[in-house]
Amino acid sequence: MFVCLFYKFTHENIKICDIRNLFRPSTYHQSIDLHKAIIQPLPLAAGITASILRLDLIHPVISGNKWFKLKYHLQAAMEAGSKGLLTFGGAWSNHLVATAAAAAELSLPAVGIVRGERPAQLSAALQDATDAGMLLHFVSRSAYADESVLHTAMQEQFPGYYLVPQGGQSEAGVCGAADIMQLVPDAAQYTHIACAAGTGTMMAGLVEASNPQQQVLGFSSLKLSNTDDNSLASFLEARTTKHNYQFIWQYHFGGYARKTTVLTGFMNNLFQQTAIPTDIVYTGKLLYGLNDLAAGNFFPANSRLLVIHSGGLQGNRSLPAGLLDY
Ligand SMILES: *Cc1c(COP(=O)(O)O)cnc(C)c1O
Repeated sequence: MFVCLFYKFTHENIKICDIRNLFRPSTYHQSIDLHKAIIQPLPLAAGITASILRLDLIHPVISGNKWFKLKYHLQAAMEAGSKGLLTFGGAWSNHLVATAAAAAELSLPAVGIVRGERPAQLSAALQDATDAGMLLHFVSRSAYADESVLHTAMQEQFPGYYLVPQGGQSEAGVCGAADIMQLVPDAAQYTHIACAAGTGTMMAGLVEASNPQQQVLGFSSLKLSNTDDNSLASFLEARTTKHNYQFIWQYHFGGYARKTTVLTGFMNNLFQQTAIPTDIVYTGKLLYGLNDLAAGNFFPANSRLLVIHSGGLQGNRSLPAGLLDY
């Protein structure tokens, strides 16, 4: 993909091997540590064992795919000498928190445009973003809905700020997500690469980094379907040059951030058996869905599955205490 080459080129030229070098270990802040992203066996139904890449372990806040989707944005903002970072999200957005933490590490001011009115009490995510120094700016749902109008208005209000679209959904986000596969030794051995999909930015990156014989499965965390004129499918269509991917729509459990006792029961069992924690919004649904597909003989014999644990565990703080065993 041409644009990815461009990013890699810039990247080498300015001799920043990785922006994680800018993250200094200190008493309060932890560096991004890609060595912590181990690959471990994940037993599924019907005797299938997948391999799971633990991106949840690379950093406590800038966790999982958020780092990868942000890194080229951060680099571009630094190169441009931007005044700060401007980004967008809902009240439970992992992306807002990750951006706030990354901006703090880079000593850049950050503004978070939040969908909806300011709640009487901030969600844990918004509180974390505020604690990291992010200025929150609330806009009505209707104003938030028209992305291009909103972007223009906010850039006028915060001139000189580098704009990161919601969820890092952009070319730079896709290119960063493609780098996830660099953490996987012998990646060509896998027949399937499975991930959760919100905006589809990570999924598009994995497709870009995959071989044409591999199949990328994106488990939608939103209640969408094939027949919808949906943003996820159109984003993949627009931003990938390949077609070796498939959406799995049926494991949304009622919609984005919705849950059932079946789901939380599965997440608890999984944790007891494997010590792998999952989050309620994305990875719990991904692993439930994968296990269910494995039980239903979805995967041909000799399939080798790579599963991306994309992090997001802080989202579990929206749950009542005691619902999860971890
Ligand atoms: C944000 C997030 C996703 C969604 O990633 P997209 O690139 O928007 O599809 C998936 N998993 C976790 C844990 C996340 O926090």
